[in-house]
Amino acid sequence: MHQNINPSIGCTVHECKYHAQTAEKCSLNEIKVVKHEENATTKECTDCGSFEKQN
Ligand code: SF4
Repeated sequence: MHQNINPSIGCTVHECKYHAQTAEKCSLNEIKVVKHEENATTKECTDCGSFEKQN
């Protein structure tokens, strides 16, 4: 369980090992937002590239 809460990174992905869990925030100091389409046209084309599955 991560104790850090980064108030600047809101996130609802509780399945991620970096989620703060006690708040709707990420615990990392920095994340990388990526796209999985050649040319991003909607927000659905973007993802958190720092996501990792919880163990
Ligand atoms: S790494 Fe990305 S998906 Fe995981 S908690 Fe942080 S912002 Fe959310």
